Amino acid sequence: MPAVVNVNGQISNEDEARISVFDHGFLYGEGVYETLLTYNKKIFLLDRHIKRLRRSADQINLSVPLADQELESRIQATLDEAALGDTPTYIRILLTRGIGPLTYDLKACLSPSLVIIVRPHTFPSEKLATKGALVALVSIIRNHPRSVNPLIKSNNLMNNALAMQEGYSKGANESLMCNYRGELTECSQSNFFLVKDGQIRTPELGSGLLAGITRGFLLELGPEIGIPTSEAVLHQDDILKSEEAFFTSTTKEIVPVVRVDDHVIGEGVPGPITKRLMAAFREKIEHLCR
Ligand code: PMP
Repeated sequence: MPAVVNVNGQISNEDEARISVFDHGFLYGEGVYETLLTYNKKIFLLDRHIKRLRRSADQINLSVPLADQELESRIQATLDEAALGDTPTYIRILLTRGIGPLTYDLKACLSPSLVIIVRPHTFPSEKLATKGALVALVSIIRNHPRSVNPLIKSNNLMNNALAMQEGYSKGANESLMCNYRGELTECSQSNFFLVKDGQIRTPELGSGLLAGITRGFLLELGPEIGIPTSEAVLHQDDILKSEEAFFTSTTKEIVPVVRVDDHVIGEGVPGPITKRLMAAFREKIEHLCR
């Protein structure tokens, strides 16, 4: 099923969608994005995604050219065109600096480009959820927060791509990065969590990572179902001492991790706390996207 693409309000199929090579998103990677999912025709946690898009844009001196309601209408028009019904649907919103001459001057681009891509979503295989994933701890370090701050959901994904490519070469499903201080940060496309002494821990934002929407949601959901869940500075040692691990993202939801490099986590199968959280997360999705 091909994608439907909305470029600055113009909807077309993926073969016809065009963006100028003079767009600074293409020339310089100057842009930000969001990835969202629909369940049962409803966009999950839309408000949180729009807020983060505005925060990301702000951090590169860009503003989203539409009010929330207008942006929602534009997303909805693109979804309507795709007519995917109840099929879980992937939505990617890209906002770039726009078209302009070859200079970094902010005044060079008069209006940002806003692209929305919609296509059916494919979840990770059932096997990954039931058997668990392999994560590689890679040599690529996460961007320093005073470089391209990982809090910015940037279209420039070179750091992530290099990390994942190293992970692929080791046969891993995800790649986990440390920061320049050696603290654990996040994976190439997801946030990372550990379970120790029955408590869920995830690297704190100060270590330099994306404030994942799923991560934020689970920091609330954990305590709601009676599992202490918090942010902390974590190191490689903490992986060795953990009973369970998992990674999270909008498109993958919660994926249990059973091995980090050669180290087997817990019993080498998805752990009970991870499974409880996965079940509670599913219930929330069903409740919020009824
Ligand atoms: N970290 C990185 C580097 C990511 O690319 C993603 C996925 N967009 C995440 C974390 C997870 O974020 P979210 O839960 O908002 O999808």
